Amino acid sequence: MEGSAIRSRTPGGRPAKQKAVHVAGQVADNGTAAGAARAATPGTPAERAARIGLVRDWDFLLHLPLRHVDETRITAIASLAPGTNGQVEGDIVDAHVSVRGRRQLLVRLRDASGDLLLRWVNFYASQQAQLVPGRRVRALGQVRGGLLGVEMVHPQVRVVDGGAPLPAHLTPVYPAAEGVSQHWLRRRIARALDAGTLNDHLPEPLRRSLDLMELGAALALLHRPPAGPAAAALDVAQEAAWRRLRFDELLAQQLALRQARARRRRDGAPALPGHGRLTAALLQSLPFVLTPDQQKVWGEISTDLAGTAPMNRLLQGDVGSGKTIVAALAAARAIESGFQAALMAPTGILADQHFQRIAALLEPLGVTVAWLAGRGREAVRRAALVDIAAGAAQLVVGTHALIQDSVQFARLGLAIVDEQHRFGVQQRLALRQGPLLPHLLMLSATPIPRSLAMSYLSDLDVSVIQTLPPGRQAIRTKLIAGGRRDEVLAAIRQEVAQGRQAYWVCPLVEENDEIEAMAAVRMVADTRALLPELRVGLLHGQMSAAEKREAMDDFAARRTDVLVATTVVEVGIDVPNASLMVIEHAQRFGLATLHQLRGRVGRGAVQSTCVLLFDEPLSEQARARLRVLYESNDGFEIARCDLRLRGPGEFLGARQWGLPMLRVADLERDGHWLETVRETADHLLAHDPATAAATTERWFPGAAQYLGA
Ligand code: ADP
Ligand code: MG
Repeated sequence: MEGSAIRSRTPGGRPAKQKAVHVAGQVADNGTAAGAARAATPGTPAERAARIGLVRDWDFLLHLPLRHVDETRITAIASLAPGTNGQVEGDIVDAHVSVRGRRQLLVRLRDASGDLLLRWVNFYASQQAQLVPGRRVRALGQVRGGLLGVEMVHPQVRVVDGGAPLPAHLTPVYPAAEGVSQHWLRRRIARALDAGTLNDHLPEPLRRSLDLMELGAALALLHRPPAGPAAAALDVAQEAAWRRLRFDELLAQQLALRQARARRRRDGAPALPGHGRLTAALLQSLPFVLTPDQQKVWGEISTDLAGTAPMNRLLQGDVGSGKTIVAALAAARAIESGFQAALMAPTGILADQHFQRIAALLEPLGVTVAWLAGRGREAVRRAALVDIAAGAAQLVVGTHALIQDSVQFARLGLAIVDEQHRFGVQQRLALRQGPLLPHLLMLSATPIPRSLAMSYLSDLDVSVIQTLPPGRQAIRTKLIAGGRRDEVLAAIRQEVAQGRQAYWVCPLVEENDEIEAMAAVRMVADTRALLPELRVGLLHGQMSAAEKREAMDDFAARRTDVLVATTVVEVGIDVPNASLMVIEHAQRFGLATLHQLRGRVGRGAVQSTCVLLFDEPLSEQARARLRVLYESNDGFEIARCDLRLRGPGEFLGARQWGLPMLRVADLERDGHWLETVRETADHLLAHDPATAAATTERWFPGAAQYLGA
């Protein structure tokens, strides 16, 4: 037969990795191991499907096939060609279990043209019972030339006693989930397709002007394409169907963001014009002047703060670019306007450091700064809560503890979130209390690709600090194979001899803080033995807040020379005298983390060095990652490479931005469309709000609540 009976889904299929988010387990056809798994999973198939998010007809329609199988044609056994896929129909003339060599089930199938051997190495008793001489079956699979003539190994078999019409279109093979069989999915999805309840929300004229397929037709073509056309022609047709789905998803996302913004506009925030005395005093007290970029972003922020539209601004700047002082100015502006400001950081260490630095800046100017973190003495915490509720605490610095229910601000005017990508949307929203929304300022060193900024974050204003403060020297990056530790020890000694300090970052242990802490404890002992003349401190995630603070204070005050640490030092830590960063087993870290870690040095005027210790052999991926870091110091460039190496799915993932992942669209690939998508969103919101609402709800159910306000 010509072509192949099994067709992979090709262009525009979402990458397998993304698929794995929704689907555990394997594609299982009838009569395979899926039966066993099914029995073990509680609930009805519908309940099990609901567990992977398949509830509404629409959810099932978006559960798109991985590939298709051609069951529309029967090939004569005599014309089967080895190496191709085919479907045959015949009578079983013999079936037995061979025990010579490997135990296997051998079934001989006969049609008018010849014989075919079907072979199973793994099989169930139920299968064996079904495949008995005299039965008429269809077998579908890959044809192999065997010792005993042509054969199929583990074909898909269906009993057709009594005859069954051949399907009119290709049969979809769906990503299955644990406890949800292929058979059940096919029936359920076919029901959704045939229900006829799907209406195309896009008005016909708009759809035509954009040259987009009708939605139902697009879905039908993806689920059960006709068998007739050659593969290439079908691909072209399906590409149009994909286009339609991608457009819809981007449109829905755009609409959701617009709606959220409109709601925020309506709610309003307090105007924070300030009298300017506190901010002026703060600027006066600094040992430096703001760089032109810092002045520019401060201008943008203070303009926003003076208005009653809630600010929703991202302040973006590479590590060390000086975002903290800008944040302190914003806080001072809120305070001099008679409101409170909150600064939330992702880790206790970073919050603590902010607290110390900002308190040092603002307390001398008469500002009351409070500290609120998860752990710590209960009495201190209660006192802080009272001050926050009474408005006595003008600036509150802390961790997630800031957004717990027990925290009631008297009049919060500004919320600042550092390294915001570590927070989910929900958490960001929780900071918005009361009838008026506080202005929101997010700080991030992770640059956002343009396409992402345009779509996910079209709701966000972005201020960028492009240039680092003057006098910085580029960090030198060295790659050293793990064996050559002597070089590293020598480098540390040399650095310390010159009055400087070093970080030594422990290997990353797969997301397990406890084991990572143990590794750090062991490493600090080793380091002390290897460098007996130096003072070596320790910092890891399992230490208490007080211990962490002490370790950081010791390092900042140069009571220790070397700080052995886990990635807890990754974010924001600022000790300008540290000029050497050593990272163990650097190949295990992601690019963004390595760049952040490296950014802990090079913060003063002295030449700094980052040593990446790696183990051989290096994988292709790891090599590419380390090369990027070696060649570039530019966070934006590194993020671009990261995107290229990892693929946008992961980079743009929900984890990073706390927003729902796109299922079919891809911002890199489909980015050229965003202008059109935005215009369409504008048009719908203005002329057809019902369609707008229906589209959003279809793709992002509950988006209104998700996107907040
Ligand atoms: P980040 O953007 O990574 O948060 P920081 O705000 O921690 O950067 O600033 C890094 C270092 O640069 C700090 O030590 C800070 O005092 C210093 N700094 C900030 N702005 C300036 C400036 N305009 N001139 C000189 N040094 C500055
Ligand atoms: Mg910072």
